[in-house]
Amino acid sequence: MSEQADVVVLGLGPGGEYVAGTLAEAGLDVVGIEAELVGGECPYWGCVPSKLMIRAGILLAEAGGVPFLAGHVEVPPDGSRVAGRIRGEATDEWNDQVAADRLAAKGGRLVRGTGRLTGPRQVTVGGRTFQARQGVVLASGTQPRIPPAPGLASTPPYWTNRDAMAARELPASMIVLGGGAIGVELAQVFAQTGVRGR
Ligand SMILES: Cc1cc2nc3c(=O)[nH]c(=O)nc-3n(C[C@H](O)[C@H](O)[C@H](O)COP(=O)(O)OP(=O)(O)OC[C@H]3O[C@@H](n4cnc5c(N)ncnc54)[C@H](O)[C@@H]3O)c2cc1C
Repeated sequence: MSEQADVVVLGLGPGGEYVAGTLAEAGLDVVGIEAELVGGECPYWGCVPSKLMIRAGILLAEAGGVPFLAGHVEVPPDGSRVAGRIRGEATDEWNDQVAADRLAAKGGRLVRGTGRLTGPRQVTVGGRTFQARQGVVLASGTQPRIPPAPGLASTPPYWTNRDAMAARELPASMIVLGGGAIGVELAQVFAQTGVRGR
């Protein structure tokens, strides 16, 4: 027996959370389905923690300029400060309760689990099936693409953005694959915090 809703939103990253919340506030019966954390990549492994890292990196870079311009200062990078802020201030230790409550406050219904389209306007998650009267919104986001470079999948282990955001200790050196905005951002941050390029 399927459960009814006006709209089912599959994936509650920034895109899906916005759609689900807006439709719920407008009075529709919305079911939002999320496999991991409500809020998706941005608040937990993307935009928000990376900006904490960038802020710290800029401060270190600025301090590095003092001997040339203003006097003498030594600032040994301490990655644990940023790691602590990412855990304590940005991600609540990767806990999405605030975001889940935000959706509930707008009237949306949260269902946790991995959803699958199983028919026209029909989504199944766990043992439950939802039939949407108006539509299903697919907002399942993206994942890092691991390029087929020989040896990459085995040794040495690689990081994705998730490992980078959760790191407590930094490696001595690294190679950043990918020169888009995110790759450049991460390369800059790690270089500023003392990780050597190779
Ligand atoms: C390091 C980094 C820095 C970034 N900085 C910025 C920035 O400064 N500014 C900016 O605008 N963007 C930034 N981004 C990009 C931003 O994070 C993404 O554009 C955004 O998260 C995409 O949102 P989304 O809702 O499309 O997908 P996602 O955030 O990927 O969310 C999709 C959600 O769907 C869920 N899901 C997937 N499949 C299923 C399923 N079958 N069932 C249930 N749930 C499912 C996932 O668990 C996930 O929570 C950054 C990204 C990274 C990695």
